[in-house]
Amino acid sequence: MKKSLLLFSLFAVGSVLTSHTTQKQEEGMFPLSELKNIDVKKAGLKITPQELYNPSGTSLIDAIVRVGGCTGSFLSNEGLIVTNHHCAFSYVQAISDVKNDYIKLGFLAQNRQQEVPAKGLVCKITSSYKDVSVDVLSGTQDLDAVSRLKKIADNIKVVTLKENESNPGLQCEISEMFTGKTYVLFRYKLLKDVRLVYVPPVSIGAYGGELDNWVWPRHSGDFAFLRAYVAPDGSAAEYNDKNVPYKPVKYLNVNPKGANENDFIFVLGYPGRTYRHQPAGFYEYHENYFLGYISNLFDWQINQMEQLGKKDYALSIKYAARIKSLANTAKNFKGKLQGFKRADLSAKKREEEKQLQQYIDANNSLKSKYGNLIPRVNELYSDLMKYANRNMWLDQIYSVSPLVQASATLSNYKLIYQRLPNETAKKEFLTSQRANIKKDLSKSLGRYDVNLDKLAMVKMFSDAVSFNSNNMLPSVNKLINGRTSLSEIESLVEGLYSKSKLNNNKEVNDWMENDLASLLSYNDELINFAGELNEEVMKFDIEDQKRDGELSQLMASLVEVKQQWKQRSFIPDANSTLRFTYGYVKGYSPNDGLYAKPYTTLKGVIEKSDTAEYQLLDAIRELYAAGDLGDLPVNILYNLDTTGGNSGSPVMNAKGQLIAINFDRAFTATINDYAWNETYSRSVGVDIRYVLWVLQKVAKANHVINEMTMAK
Ligand code: ASP
Repeated sequence: MKKSLLLFSLFAVGSVLTSHTTQKQEEGMFPLSELKNIDVKKAGLKITPQELYNPSGTSLIDAIVRVGGCTGSFLSNEGLIVTNHHCAFSYVQAISDVKNDYIKLGFLAQNRQQEVPAKGLVCKITSSYKDVSVDVLSGTQDLDAVSRLKKIADNIKVVTLKENESNPGLQCEISEMFTGKTYVLFRYKLLKDVRLVYVPPVSIGAYGGELDNWVWPRHSGDFAFLRAYVAPDGSAAEYNDKNVPYKPVKYLNVNPKGANENDFIFVLGYPGRTYRHQPAGFYEYHENYFLGYISNLFDWQINQMEQLGKKDYALSIKYAARIKSLANTAKNFKGKLQGFKRADLSAKKREEEKQLQQYIDANNSLKSKYGNLIPRVNELYSDLMKYANRNMWLDQIYSVSPLVQASATLSNYKLIYQRLPNETAKKEFLTSQRANIKKDLSKSLGRYDVNLDKLAMVKMFSDAVSFNSNNMLPSVNKLINGRTSLSEIESLVEGLYSKSKLNNNKEVNDWMENDLASLLSYNDELINFAGELNEEVMKFDIEDQKRDGELSQLMASLVEVKQQWKQRSFIPDANSTLRFTYGYVKGYSPNDGLYAKPYTTLKGVIEKSDTAEYQLLDAIRELYAAGDLGDLPVNILYNLDTTGGNSGSPVMNAKGQLIAINFDRAFTATINDYAWNETYSRSVGVDIRYVLWVLQKVAKANHVINEMTMAK
């Protein structure tokens, strides 16, 4: 109790101070191997490089954990993890229903017994790494593009298997750092029993919802607490009530005073994907085809789900996580499109490649080795653009329509089954594949909703019939058979869906349990169509493999010659491996005539709540009315280089103490996946002072606060 009171007195911040001027012009998601090449002390770090990263001892790195596709950090020696609300959201959704609406009310375990498993969530801790490029590329020198790619994949399997055997208890994974060129093996400790401790109500965790997503100024409490458990002997284990809280090698101290404007800060985390080393063709493909197509399609899906959800609250709970994830991507992609235009990125890449070509052409030995490199990359990308509509459609069809996906899955199994030579082989297939068939079909049918699926297929068919001759899909055209008007497509879809027995959960389940042979001999028009689509996809896959194989080789050469030209080495693109990035708490000018301060406060939360989009808890309004809390910092802005996957990453001060939880980027920074720039790249975190305040005052979760160690 006393500890909490003391804490609260530290919240009052008064003004946000300016400590020293800052300089940072360069991007940087540094892998651990690059840390030795940056002068972190000069940048502002006050702990030793060994305290940050020490391969032969304990360091801050040991407190960082990958939480599914996000990042988190340990905050106690009892396995307490802090991450984002949006990283825990789908697990809260999974335990919510109309009666127990944890999404709306939040979830708080009062003790260990009440902590509920986040089903399916696996956490990972990087334990060590080594460069295995030589092993991965061995024997690939004289192979053609497709065989080379296959050999690389085979080598990766062999090396990984060997490493896994010699590292029991760890999971080894090889990550490609530079396409076709460098490979690093990471050894991870896995934690498979992760439970929910505290997840705030959605009105705090995602305050402002989609309206505020990817936006600064921001007022969101996007944080959540989890706990990792292991078997009593310390080994990783799935959920079991005998499991005990995991004791991490290291956990972070929390600084309840947060940080000030211009303070040096850094982030350790698992950024997902960036494309900075990709060629101009890739940029043009994304700018002119991919980003627009996906954001439109996702917007359309969200709209449909919202309409259906309005009529049925249970359905709206079922759709909640999917809508959130689609909306997150759709808005991000719109930001990227704006960024492409504003920074004229594709043209700049083109210009850079033109200059690189001149550099190559000016030297005979470079010219003979790399002369045709850029033209060939360009050819491959123009080819990709020629078939863009068809390929993007095929990439989306199965996620858009679970019934088509289930039909395609069944059609694949049927094909194998029918080709088996005799009854004995068929019997053996039925026994050995039962579990797989069940798993694969349930994956699709589990997320199936007939009304949504029908609407989606009308849209997808209508889109496909308008494709030009390069992009035409014979299987679709055959099915449509000239019936191209909207009403004709609607009645075609109606017919297909009313005939499909996969529509009927009970019947499918009966088949799966009692009569698999009948399921494998079941046929309908949709299954026929899905089978033909499968064949087309396979044919295109072969073309894709050829192109990917060639690009993999070409990209390795492109980085090689670019490094010679620029006379420096590069930082690899983000690839979900552990990275360090640093910078400063800093405002910026996102748009002409605007300056954005690097802090928002509780006063802003209250002000926003006057509009309908922002649902504010009464408890917060009352606390605000009762106390002098206007200056309580809520979110902060900083010029670090982050991307998706950095969600939940700890933001630390110069001493390595937790001062915020990273959760987003400003709209203008969504483009930094292609090009980071100090003028427009800003990331957003929840200030630790808001986290502690919500825990203490709103959730009354002092037991969670008391588990943490506060920095003096
Ligand atoms: N909010 C982001 C995400 O969805 C984090 C980011 O991309 O910066 O992953």
